[in-house]
Amino acid sequence: MIELKDVHKSFNTHHVLRGVSASVAKGEVVCIIGPSGSGKSTILRCINGLESYDTGEILVEGHKVDRNSPSIVSVRTQVSMVFQRFNLFPHRTALENVIEGPIFVKKEPRLQAVERGRHLLAQVGLAEKANAYPPQLSGGQQQRVAIARALAMQPKAILFDEPTSALDPELVGEVLGVMRKLADDGMTMVVVTHEMGFAKEVADRVLFIDGGTIVEQGQAREILNAPQHARTKDFLRRVT
Ligand code: ADP
Ligand code: MG
Repeated sequence: MIELKDVHKSFNTHHVLRGVSASVAKGEVVCIIGPSGSGKSTILRCINGLESYDTGEILVEGHKVDRNSPSIVSVRTQVSMVFQRFNLFPHRTALENVIEGPIFVKKEPRLQAVERGRHLLAQVGLAEKANAYPPQLSGGQQQRVAIARALAMQPKAILFDEPTSALDPELVGEVLGVMRKLADDGMTMVVVTHEMGFAKEVADRVLFIDGGTIVEQGQAREILNAPQHARTKDFLRRVT
């Protein structure tokens, strides 16, 4: 579903992605782990065209991701993103946040969007918060609204960029629980995370990235329990 072939990306003279090749199959959950500044967010942002890349190729369902092509709009609706900071509109209710994309980007009839929006809020355990404004919700609840909003676009895949890093520890579990349910339901997911327990239990594959290259990738259990590369071992020792 998602394929990166030898992707390079620089910010001015800073060579941030140095030949990243990876693929994500339909229904697969891939976790990306690695130190801060290694290029994890940049990879996600390149996949859905929030950022351009210099050379190499990124394909989503066989279609090239090209930020300068009109087709980028369809890539962005097919691949939703959930951010560390939930990026909800503070002056719109939870439900209004969820239906915004379907109505304004996908031109769905309002009633249909509202009906699905309520269903999605129920799916993330927030049926009773449809009319609440983001500042009235906890961080965990806001992030669950953000996940419902991502789902509202009926994406083929969802990219999560450290979705629990901004949360108080006691709120992390409710968000991971929603993500685990999505994974069980067969959603294709790429998850940048420091939650090694989640990676171990939910990920089909783990990529360890350092310095803009994938140093090691494989089955979650292999990488997390028996890393081969010294840099992976060192990283895991520091985060677990
Ligand atoms: P990670 O998500 O793994 O922490 P990022 O992908 O955010 O890493 O960043 C990788 C490197 O690229 C970092 O050194 C960061 O400072 C740099 N970088 C990211 N975005 C930009 C940008 N828009 N302009 C300049 N440098 C950037
Ligand atoms: Mg990041």
